[in-house]
Amino acid sequence: MPGVPKHPIVVIGGGISGLMAARTLVEAGEEVVILDKGRSGGGRMATRESGRATFDHGAQYFTVRTPEFAAYVKEWKAQGWITEWFGEPHARYRAEGGMNRLTRHLAEPLDICVRVRVTSIEPEQNGWLLHWVSEEQEYVAQTYDEVLPEEVYDPGNKANIRARAVLITAPPPQALYLLRQGGNHLAEEQERKLAAVRYLPCLAALLKLDGVSAVPAPGYVRAKNSTNPVQLVVDNYQKGISSQPALTIYACGQWSRDHFNQPDDEVLGQLLQEAQVWQGSANIIEAQLKRWRFSLAETMYPARFADLGLQSPALLAGDSFIAPEDDAQHARIETAALSGVAAAKRLLDIL
Ligand SMILES: Cc1cc2nc3c(=O)[nH]c(=O)nc-3n(C[C@H](O)[C@H](O)[C@H](O)COP(=O)(O)OP(=O)(O)OC[C@H]3O[C@@H](n4cnc5c(N)ncnc54)[C@H](O)[C@@H]3O)c2cc1C
Repeated sequence: MPGVPKHPIVVIGGGISGLMAARTLVEAGEEVVILDKGRSGGGRMATRESGRATFDHGAQYFTVRTPEFAAYVKEWKAQGWITEWFGEPHARYRAEGGMNRLTRHLAEPLDICVRVRVTSIEPEQNGWLLHWVSEEQEYVAQTYDEVLPEEVYDPGNKANIRARAVLITAPPPQALYLLRQGGNHLAEEQERKLAAVRYLPCLAALLKLDGVSAVPAPGYVRAKNSTNPVQLVVDNYQKGISSQPALTIYACGQWSRDHFNQPDDEVLGQLLQEAQVWQGSANIIEAQLKRWRFSLAETMYPARFADLGLQSPALLAGDSFIAPEDDAQHARIETAALSGVAAAKRLLDIL
């Protein structure tokens, strides 16, 4: 339509799903902006540095079960971004320098604005009006000047971003909130399926040690009993991403749910006691706690993505979108990546 600016597609969420979606759209010639509320993209593929210690404290590895994902993984391997860590018959892949590094490589050709929290998605003529906040005012100005194309925002009100289509990769409980805040009404069946998606929380302790741990090679111990408070212990030093012994200790979903609102020192105290055996004779130099409110999906959305069928294109993707015919029915990096790609392809068809 002459005179109507062509706004970009906005992808909400710069985790693996949003990044793979954006890359698919950009490769097809679309203009795309990714918005993420985190300090960097990557979402649950998260890596934290503390001095010489490096911790993967979200996903530790990924596996490959489909030829479609294998094609991407082959390319990442050829680039030297990932290597096999351990595991038969499905190899566990780790990212060089930590899982977040892989998402940084994937984000290189993309426009990604971090520390931008979208607060609502409102329909308007020819697209969407997104409201957002950032706690850092200076950063807001910088974001606009350096990253967002000029025509995207309303100069009279910088808290607005315009999009011709939105692809939301925040977990469905958060995505539904944004849609409701914008006054959208979903079809009853769609609303029911999205509202049924539930996530387990996860509490993770990050321990810097002054010597080697007692975790056996290859630096990965999973509890045999799924009700054990400590579900998984990873030695990031043995994994090859940390220059100093550094453990990530994950509590199981139920324990995390029961203790989620307790103060840091209480949670850390209990987790350290449970995992003491893996500390060996080393001392703890530093202990931090990470709280994941949305960790692994317990219930899924029964398709690769959701097309909301609203007046302008709006699609949802992410790790909890898994078609019933998928043989491994659990949310993970592969499902998130392929969901993003599938949603982007549908968007290209619609546009
Ligand atoms: C502790 C833990 C251990 C795990 N272990 C493994 C593992 O070993 N192997 C495996 O395959 N998977 C694992 N997973 C799961 C895996 O990390 C996820 O399935 C995958 O990374 C999800 O990707 P995603 O892009 O769908 O979502 P996310 O990575 O969660 O990305 C969504 C993004 O949306 C952003 N966002 C949300 N709301 C807004 C908003 N309002 N405005 C702007 N941005 C917003 C978030 O900041 C986030 O970056 C683990 C997860 C956790 C938490």
